[in-house]
This record gives sequence, C-alpha cells and structure tokens, in this order.
Amino acid sequence: MKVLLIEDERTIADFIKEGLEEEGYQVDVCENGRQGLQMALEGLGGYDLLLLDWMLPGMSGIEICRAIRKESAEIPILFLTAKDTTDDVIFGLDAGANDYLRKPFAFGELLARIRGVAARKTRRYPPSQARKH
Ligand code: CA
Repeated sequence: MKVLLIEDERTIADFIKEGLEEEGYQVDVCENGRQGLQMALEGLGGYDLLLLDWMLPGMSGIEICRAIRKESAEIPILFLTAKDTTDDVIFGLDAGANDYLRKPFAFGELLARIRGVAARKTRRYPPSQARKH
C-alpha cells in the first residue's frame, strides 16, 4: 500500500513514515502544501491513501483536499491535525476527507484508521454528497 504523507513538521513526518514502513507501507513525504497537491494529483493512480496535515506552508490541507476531490472521489484522505473542535472536524469531513485524527495520536490509532479508510475505499465521496448537518 502506497501512502503520500503531506506534513511539514519533520518529527511527526519521520515518526509516521518510519512507523508505517515497519508495517510494510510505502511512504512518500512532502513538506509543502502546493508540492504535495501536485504529487497527489500526478500520483492519483499510484497512491492508496493520502495523510494530510491541516496547517501547511504553501496551501492548507483543506484546500488540498478540495482540489483533490475535484479530480478523484476515490483516494482515501485522512486528516492529521491539532485542530480539534467539532466545527473543525465537520469542516474537514465536508471538504472531502474520509476520516480525521487529532494530534497527538497513538500510532496504533493511526494504523486502525488507515485500515478503516482503506476498507471503505470503494465508497465514493463526491463533494456534492458532503454530509448534511
Ligand atoms: Ca503543520
């Protein structure tokens, strides 16, 4: 399974990359939002999952998420962020994310959520079907 991690905090990115590689995942890391979006779009056929930080240089995770959803409703997107109010969670999910993980998180929870979104990969999340509330 190939993962693209867009995360500008080096320690978190290294922690996730090393941990996922130990679990057999292949991980590419990008620290810049705009570059990350480009990598995601160019690699849409190749990445199985996108791990996306919210606050990024160049472009926010929300903008990246929306831009990717215009191109592909299928790639699972999991937000990793310190934002943790209910409004933020709803905003992130409405932007097209499949799930949401609050920092700091236990690595086991990350793995469980990755398994969860990967299992639901066949479900489609077009922006027009954003959850109502
Ligand atoms: Ca960040």
